[in-house]
Order: sequence, then C-alpha cells, then structure tokens
Amino acid sequence: MKTTDYLIIGAGASGLAFADTLLGESDAEVLLIDRRAKVGGHWRDAYSFVRLHSPSAYYGVDSLPLGQNRIIASGRNTGFYEQATGAEVCAYFETVRASRLEASGRAHFLARSEFLDHHGGTASIRHTGSGEIEQIGVRRRVVDARYQEASVPATHVPSYAVDPDAAFAPIGMLPGRAGEHRGFIVIGAGKTAVDACLWLLDAGIDPERIRWVRPREMWFTDRAGMQPLDQVASIINGLADDAQAGAQARTLVDLCHRLEDVGRLMRIDSGIEPTMYRGTMLSLAELSALRQIDNVIRLGHVKSVEAGRLRLTDGDVAIGPGTLVVDCSARGLASSPQVPIFAHDTITLQQLRHNSPTFNAALLGFIEAHGDDAAEKNRMAPPNPYASTPRDMATMFTRTWVSERLWQGQPDIRRWIEHSRLNLLGGLALRMEDAAVKAAAGRFATHVATAVARLPQLA
Ligand SMILES: Cc1cc2nc3c(=O)[nH]c(=O)nc-3n(C[C@H](O)[C@H](O)[C@H](O)COP(=O)(O)OP(=O)(O)OC[C@H]3O[C@@H](n4cnc5c(N)ncnc54)[C@H](O)[C@@H]3O)c2cc1C
Repeated sequence: MKTTDYLIIGAGASGLAFADTLLGESDAEVLLIDRRAKVGGHWRDAYSFVRLHSPSAYYGVDSLPLGQNRIIASGRNTGFYEQATGAEVCAYFETVRASRLEASGRAHFLARSEFLDHHGGTASIRHTGSGEIEQIGVRRRVVDARYQEASVPATHVPSYAVDPDAAFAPIGMLPGRAGEHRGFIVIGAGKTAVDACLWLLDAGIDPERIRWVRPREMWFTDRAGMQPLDQVASIINGLADDAQAGAQARTLVDLCHRLEDVGRLMRIDSGIEPTMYRGTMLSLAELSALRQIDNVIRLGHVKSVEAGRLRLTDGDVAIGPGTLVVDCSARGLASSPQVPIFAHDTITLQQLRHNSPTFNAALLGFIEAHGDDAAEKNRMAPPNPYASTPRDMATMFTRTWVSERLWQGQPDIRRWIEHSRLNLLGGLALRMEDAAVKAAAGRFATHVATAVARLPQLA
C-alpha cells in the first residue's frame, strides 16, 4: 500500500499552493490526486479567451512567480499589472508540478484519480481510467482542496432546459460558432458573461446585435484599486475606502453607494440597484465598453431555451433567425457553508482573506506546518465564506480585518505574510515613506475598528 503524510484532494490552484508552502516549511511528504488528467483545476477546462481578472503578480504558488510583473501597454487594461491567460496559468501550474513539487522528491501527483472516502488513516481512491480502487495510507491528514471547487461553463449543466433544435452554445464554443450568426443573446450577469460580451465587442460585433439577459445586477470592483508592487498605494487606498465607508455607512445600500462614489465599486447600469457582489474586477474601459450593450433583458431567470423562443420567469422573448444563445450562467466560486478548517485528521481549505484564494491556501500550508494544536490553528484561520450579495460583502470585509489583526499579532505568520509573493499588500512596508501610502494606511487605521464593529450590524 502507498503511504503519504498528506493526501491532497484536488490539484487546482488551492491544492498546489497549499502543497508548495507545506513542502517548503516542513519535511512532509504529499500525494496530490485529481480527477482531471493534469494539474491546474478549472483552468484546464476554461474557454480559450479566459484570463486572470486579478494581476498575475499575486496569483499562483508562493515559491514561483507567475509572469514578469510587466505593465500592460495597450487595450482596456493599459497601465495595470499583467494578467495571465488561461493557457499561461495552465503552463505555469505544470511547471509548479514538475519543478517545485515533484523535484522536491517528497511530492507526487496522481492524475485521473478520484477520492472516495477516508477512515482511520486509510483513504480509498478510484483510478478513473481503469476503475481500479486503491487504498492509500495517510499518516497525518487528508486535505480537502475541492471544498470550494469552481463551477465552470465546460462542466456545469445549465439550470434551465435547452431544446436540441435551439441555436445554443456554452461560452467555450463562441469563437468557433460566432461567424455563423448575426445576433447573440448572452445569458448571465457575472464575470463569464462579461468576458463573452467583451469578446463579441472585440470581434467587431455591433453592440446593437447583442442582447444580454441580466436577471440581477452586480457590483464590480474597479481593477485600478487592486494593483500591487509599485502601485500598492492603490490597494491600501481601496482598503481605506472600504474601512471608511464601513465605519460611516447607515445601511448596506448606503455602504455600496459610498464605495461607488469613491470609485471602489462600479455597476453597469446606474439606474438599477445591484443585489450581487462576487468581488469580480473590471477596468473603467471595460465598463464603458459593456455599457454600449443597452439591449438588456430583465425578465427574471431563464426557464428554457427553445427554437425561436427564450422563456423566462417573467415573460418570453423571441429569438430571431441567425441568433446564437450563449450560456454564461455557471456560478464560478462555490458558496459552501463554512466548517472548521483544521480537524483531527482532515483539513478543509477555505477562504480567509478576501480576493486572495492562493494566498489563503498557502497560508494554511504554513499554519499546518508550524502549528500543532488544531484549536490554535483554527483560531488563526477563521473561515470566511465567499460573497454573493452586498450583505455577504460586509461580513466578508469584517472577517478579513479581524483575521489580519490576529495574524499581525503572531510574529511567524506576520513574517511569512510580509515576504509572500501571494500577499497583495507585499512591499507595503518598503513603501511606507511614500506620502500616498502613508496617508492611506493612516486612514485605514483610523476607520477599521469602527467598521469592524459597525458592519455586522448593517449585515
Ligand atoms: C473563470 C475564473 C477566473 C478566475 N480568476 C481569478 C483571478 O483572476 N484571481 C483570483 O484570485 N481568483 C480567480 N478565480 C478564483 C478561483 O477560484 C481560483 O483562482 C482557483 O483557481 C480555484 O482553484 P481551486 O483549486 O480552489 O478549485 P478548482 O480549480 O475547481 O480545483 C478543484 C479540483 O478538485 C478536483 N476534484 C474535485 N473532486 C474530486 C475528487 N473527489 N477526487 C479528486 N479530485 C477532485 C477537481 O477535478 C478540480 O481539479 C477565478 C475563478 C474562475 C472560475
């Protein structure tokens, strides 16, 4: 029987970032397994034009940079730090597997292997090619790195019925099928739909020929406030805006409007109050491009796509000849209920700091390597569920700030965070003499305690 210290279920960004830091901080052996044929998780099934919506500078695993921190020189994100394409993310994770994990001699990856269960130090996995079941001896812990598994267009099943005769495609088929169509109906209000609409506009499609089904509106975060390194003043300034608005807002709507007034949050249609918030980033240039699409269908959720007709909860819409309906309704991040991260023989990876999925997984690797008592490790790692609404956003901000205070009080964790490339505030300490950084840090410090007390009341 194979044995390992840690069996990590899921070799996506989270499993890899956790393994990378655990290997660097301990002498543990790890075995990563995944149903997929290669490491990289959902990125392996993403549509061809997907890219990070955050900078590459603070994405990936701690021990290996992603990209070269170049500044984008043209397009709708000019002046911002580079954002890797999906293909670049996949290639990077392959390099991580070979040159960081397996090169250590203490990590192995088993592809096409599905976790079944785990009892008393023995885990069962099924090799999906052969169907063979194998037992693995686990000396320390099973790490669930698929608890917040993303639901992505290539693998999700739409929640509505689709007639086989309807002209319908998931976003991944858009580049191949767009040329055969004259009009487009995009279903979904989140990042995937944004990507589809921007792709169509970039392909030269007249905005008049795009209809967009948006049952609800979303608040987006201005990407300008998420730029690290030489532009880290943008991040601390954005955090100061969040804290100041949190300290002064009278209601959740007021909180969002204050954040909109300072350019932190953005919405496509200023006449409609958004009820969704997922932390998705957009640039101002992307926002103004999206605003060209003014044929928005607001008739609730789609119930079915039929040949010539779209049925929605509040009415029907005709689908003209030559029109392709594009599904962009996959949910993306999972909203799994929070559970304690560290248990006797399991670790369930979850969000800690918002907007930082790989930072969180790596920090949990560090905490696992250096802590020995589950209660103390859980004290340092309170789960912070992903947000879907402005209410969740308020709760999520609060939990992040409470955790940050805990981490600042723990010298080894504080040091790790300061030096981690995954820390979006990396390099802040070096730039404290910069007047803009200093002023923003002061404003954050002035308001954060009041915001932490006040936001839970609003939420
Ligand atoms: C389109 C998209 C773009 C994004 N862009 C960004 C961004 O720019 N910046 C950012 O910070 N975050 C971004 N995110 C957030 C994203 O959640 C993280 O970036 C990250 O990739 C998620 O990785 P994960 O490992 O948690 O999940 P996944 O990538 O979903 O990996 C989970 C893995 O677990 C495996 N698995 C599940 N069940 C089993 C089982 N029983 N046995 C074996 N294996 C199993 C799956 O096959 C999968 O490979 C984006 C998300 C999406 C969907």
